[in-house]
Amino acid sequence: MDGERLILECVRIARPGLPPLEGTVVLEDGLISAVQHGRLRDRVSNAERVDCRGGVLFPGFEDPHCHPLALGSALLSADCRPSAVPDIAGLRRALTNWSAENPGEPIVRGSGYDELALREGRHPDRGDLDAAVADRPVVLTHSSGHAHVLNTAALRLAGITAATDEPDGGYIDREPGSGEPSGLLLEMSQWLDEHLTDSVAGKADRYARAASTEFLRNGVTSVTDAGHLNDVRTPAIWERLASSQVFVPRVTAMIGYRAGAPSRRTGEASEHGTVKVMLTLTGGRLEPGIETLVEIIAGASKAGSEVAVHAVEREAIMAVCETVRSARGRGLGLPAVRIEHASECPAEVSRALKAAGVKVVTQPGFIFARGDRYLTARTRGHGVPARYLYPFRRWQSDGVPVVASSDAPFGPVSPLVGIGAAATRRTTTGKTLAPSERIPVADAMKLYLRASGSPEGGPAWLGLNAGQPADLALLDSDPQEVAATAIGRIKCLMTVVSGQVAWTGL
Ligand SMILES: [Zn+2]
Repeated sequence: MDGERLILECVRIARPGLPPLEGTVVLEDGLISAVQHGRLRDRVSNAERVDCRGGVLFPGFEDPHCHPLALGSALLSADCRPSAVPDIAGLRRALTNWSAENPGEPIVRGSGYDELALREGRHPDRGDLDAAVADRPVVLTHSSGHAHVLNTAALRLAGITAATDEPDGGYIDREPGSGEPSGLLLEMSQWLDEHLTDSVAGKADRYARAASTEFLRNGVTSVTDAGHLNDVRTPAIWERLASSQVFVPRVTAMIGYRAGAPSRRTGEASEHGTVKVMLTLTGGRLEPGIETLVEIIAGASKAGSEVAVHAVEREAIMAVCETVRSARGRGLGLPAVRIEHASECPAEVSRALKAAGVKVVTQPGFIFARGDRYLTARTRGHGVPARYLYPFRRWQSDGVPVVASSDAPFGPVSPLVGIGAAATRRTTTGKTLAPSERIPVADAMKLYLRASGSPEGGPAWLGLNAGQPADLALLDSDPQEVAATAIGRIKCLMTVVSGQVAWTGL
């Protein structure tokens, strides 16, 4: 490829806060080598030309927290999201059709259902799934990934009976009277991976390929696998998938603290950029406890690793802030800590984030995809006030550093859906989740765009310039020039990774 160039013609070059300018962009050796307004003045030989048909060129989007293999699995299973199935009869049809179309699959899989969005307002049970497919195992995954429903054949395959004890942290729902499993399982994702024969590991290539295309189709050129079960072998798996071009976007993987805790593996820790910790609140108790969290953060800090703590509830977020403050008090410097999600953030929690100097990696797309669920839960007397949820305006005025991600498949992959949601606070059904927390479109875009190719959390996007890595997304419109409610419908036309066209719909 030496000396080969790619010339993007008839392209509109995006500029932060300004309308795009028509011009020409030259890519060479994985970098942008020239950005010129109007037609190219110099003759360029040995070049391939692409007519971009007036599309708008942006740096490629980053996704610093997603689950690519789970995304691939969801893409290759029956679509049971609220947008596809309104009720349990629809869900049964989706599973029956998928089963007929995929006769060779050992397990019939469906994903993305949300019990609050189904007309019946309840989880399906094994009887519902048996009515869809009786002779093959069926596994249905909830939109959150925290619940599964199995039909009778799948329960048998997994070995779950009335006599089965709950695994650690998991819950087996039972039919009243008989004590037989109803089919609904909570927090048993890892257990199912280990107990069902077609485990994700055997399907990594298929899942990775499907996810790769989905990211590229959405203009995403770099992703981080945020799995808390990733271990020290995970980076090598991604290296293989990337070098064989099965997975094309740039990819890095976090390592679960149990698998690669730097306090125990000091010498190797710096190879693994980010250590992932799930900090969960169950029955008022944080798991892992504060002492363990302090130990993890101190260990990572010494090893030069970053720690990414999953924290959703305000108690969990506050615990992370306090831990960081105490680590600093013990002379451990400023540990690199980021909070994943930070979903429930009233005023005092936002101020604590700022005071602790902790970065937030959150998901504007949840406002769109889960907003209706939050509002329904609230009307039923659960949940928290809408203004506490993903408060982008408050974070902005408090000066909390925030970047956006998808958490796909648990949130929508498209950064444009997320940009639209941060700017409008609109849900799937068009309701509004705390309009006071809207932010301007230009600011919503900065949550997703860094200076092209700079590491996540690096300098914000300042425009496209020669010398930057050629990771690019060509969109059919600039989000700054359409109605905010239409941003989610903007399409990506072409995606470039390292100077090469990785996906095109032109
Ligand atoms: Zn996640």
